Amino acid sequence: MMTRRYLLCTGNPGKAAELRTLLPADIELVTLADVGLPADLPETGGTLEENALQKARFAHGRTALPCIADDTGLEVDALQSAPGVRSARYAGPAKDAVANMAKLLDELQGVRDRSARFRTVIALVKDDGTHLFQGEVRGRISEEPRGRGGFGYDPVFVPAGSPRTFAEMDAVEKNRVSHRARAVDELVKWLAINGSVPAGSSSSGPSGG
Ligand code: IMP
Repeated sequence: MMTRRYLLCTGNPGKAAELRTLLPADIELVTLADVGLPADLPETGGTLEENALQKARFAHGRTALPCIADDTGLEVDALQSAPGVRSARYAGPAKDAVANMAKLLDELQGVRDRSARFRTVIALVKDDGTHLFQGEVRGRISEEPRGRGGFGYDPVFVPAGSPRTFAEMDAVEKNRVSHRARAVDELVKWLAINGSVPAGSSSSGPSGG
């Protein structure tokens, strides 16, 4: 079995934990701290794609390791797809999840159409090229935060077909349908075809449970 080292370009512990679970076991993941890079890589782009690429390119330029970066946005239909690329700093520069959710629920007060989607873009930057992968999950914004699991906006996001928020699910259940799991699944399929990872080695992708 071929082992490859990849740098995971995130300082967000919730995101890092999910990516570790979702990526195949034969991929060795190195953290930003392991290579002496800051947890907060530059992300000044206007789209999820630009930000994911910016983070992965920044890290690849400094380490020459193959780099994986994820950028995620919550897009709410009634808010013209806001907060979108500004999801992390929706309520201000502190990236405070509780404040972000409070602002979102405030904006949606009295709004009946609460449909939304999470969208993740993953950038893979290696010596021989750059690749983008995407995953999304549709759902709706709850009336108030519910649940203690997950991170970020999980307490206010109810995926389609479920009565519960992501924060009311355990990790396995969230990973079965999540935007991130779907994007990772695309990445794993690509890696399998392109020879870095043996096919069928995903440890718990959306179809693997
Ligand atoms: P970023 O991709 O780290 O910039 O995240 C953007 C924002 O979305 C941050 O506020 C994250 O906490 C939030 N976020 C990212 N992924 C998820 C998720 O899977 N569930 C809930 N919130 C998330």
